[in-house]
Order: sequence, then C-alpha cells, then structure tokens
Amino acid sequence: MQVFYDKISFSLYINSIKNTKQTIGFAPTMGALHAGHISLYKEARKDNDIVISSIFVNPTQFNNLEDLEKYPRTIEEDLKKLEASNLVDAVYVPKVEDIYPNGMQSKHYNFGGIENEMEGAARPGHFDGVGTVVEELFLQVKPNNAYFGEKDFQQLKIIKKLVEILNLNIKIHGVKIFREDTGLAMSSRNMRLSEDEKQASTLIYKTLHQVNDWTKNLSVSKIKEKVENIFNQGEMVLEYFMIADEETLKEVDFLSENKNYRAFIVVNVGKVRLIDNMRLE
Ligand code: AMP
Repeated sequence: MQVFYDKISFSLYINSIKNTKQTIGFAPTMGALHAGHISLYKEARKDNDIVISSIFVNPTQFNNLEDLEKYPRTIEEDLKKLEASNLVDAVYVPKVEDIYPNGMQSKHYNFGGIENEMEGAARPGHFDGVGTVVEELFLQVKPNNAYFGEKDFQQLKIIKKLVEILNLNIKIHGVKIFREDTGLAMSSRNMRLSEDEKQASTLIYKTLHQVNDWTKNLSVSKIKEKVENIFNQGEMVLEYFMIADEETLKEVDFLSENKNYRAFIVVNVGKVRLIDNMRLE
C-alpha cells in the first residue's frame, strides 16, 4: 500500500495508473477509520483494478469549530487498518493547501433543493463544504467509481447530484450502513462516547426499528410524538427525527404506497452528535 502526503507525488501516481488504463475505485474519508469505512473498500475491490482511500479532515464542512477541533485524528492507526485490510492500493493524505490552494473557502452549489433539508438545515454551509472537497478530490483522484455510505444518506444524494451538475464520468455507489453488533451505526464519533453512552446510544437503532413497525398502523405525526417521548426521558437529546421521501428528502406527513421513505434521526449524546437512518419497508 502506497501513501502519498502531497498533491504532486500523488498526481504522478494517478497519471501512471491512468496511462495503463486501469480502473480506479475511490472512497474519501476523514479518518478515525472503522469497519464501516473498510466496507466501502470491500465494495470498491469488487469492481476496480486499483482502490484508493483518502484521509482529510475537511475544515469547510464543519459549521462548529469545537466539532472540528474535537474530531478524532488517528492517522497512524488508520494507515495500519488500511494496510491490514489488504483492500487498498494507495492512500492520499493531502495537506490543506493541496485541496485549497487559493484559501480555505467553499464553493456554492445548487443541488436542486436537497441541500436545504435535514443536515443542510441543521448545519448551514455543510454541503457546500462537502461538495468543494469532493469535487477537488475527484479531480485529483480521477476515479471511475466512488463509494459513499448510506449512513450519510443525504450526502450520498448530494454527491450523485454533484457528479451530474459537473458532468463527471464517475459512477457513485451507495454502501449499506455498517453497524456494531448492538445495532449502533459505526461512526468515527463513537470513539468519543463512554461505555455507558455507547450502550445508551443503541436506543437509536432500536427506535428506528420500531418506527418501521409503527408505520404499518400509526400516522406519521403519532410516530414522531412517540419518538420524541422516547428521547425526552434519558440524557440523550433528540435534535431531529423525520420521515422523508427518499427522492426529495422532504419531510412527509403521510405515506403513500408507491414511494420510498426513510426515517432520519440525529441525537446528541453528551457533546457527541450521532446520525442514523433506516429505509422503511
Ligand atoms: P467520514 O470519514 O465520516 O467522512 O466517512 C467517510 C465515508 O464513510 C462516508 O461515505 C460515510 O458515509 C462512510 N461511512 C461512515 N460510517 C459508515 C458506516 N457505519 N457504514 C457505512 N459507511 C459509513
């Protein structure tokens, strides 16, 4: 596994791959890697000659300085995990100036409205930051295929839209949420939870499961009320819960037969913000 710490040596490597007509599968990360990230490379390994990872904590997608500062950085362990996985050919660990040569600023995108829902509403500027870093990484990595987790379902949709807007010839693949045995969605942020908080956080997945059952005989407003009541009791604070149309990501008040819906939830456990979602069957 080769590791590149600057744009120049990395672009020489990419050019050599492109010259030999090998296909590239790519999944960007912000590090603090876990089995959820590795599952992206497992998928990438199936369809590509070369699999590339990147590790870059992107400042412009954080709207909260404390969140950025507290974001775990574990580069040595990350590289060991990637090496041990035997799935990745190269890792790009760019410096800030390799991604933002003209100053650390986001571009502004029009993603057709989905950028204003859920995480876009809760974290102003977040998807402009995501779009900016992913656009730049796509230009540098030149992948044929790119892999994103359904854990960040809205982000996955934004990236599909980004590729469409920029007319890039990259196929975007969504990868199922990888969970702990307890059901807790794997996340780099889980490292910041105490054992008790981790245990308590399993309530998120349990609740999503219940929501799926409730959709069979309860109204959306009743389901929302029940979810709010569940989280009103403990030390976890519900930031938002909603059922939304998978296409538009707009919250819905009732469910119709011929559409796909997902339940989306964000819960703050102490100072750790946990996000999860589930397709409703
Ligand atoms: P991050 O390092 O949090 O920016 O995530 C990098 C990529 O890994 C994104 O596409 C995430 O959606 C994906 N990812 C993070 N956690 C999981 C998980 N538990 N299961 C599947 N994909 C994940």
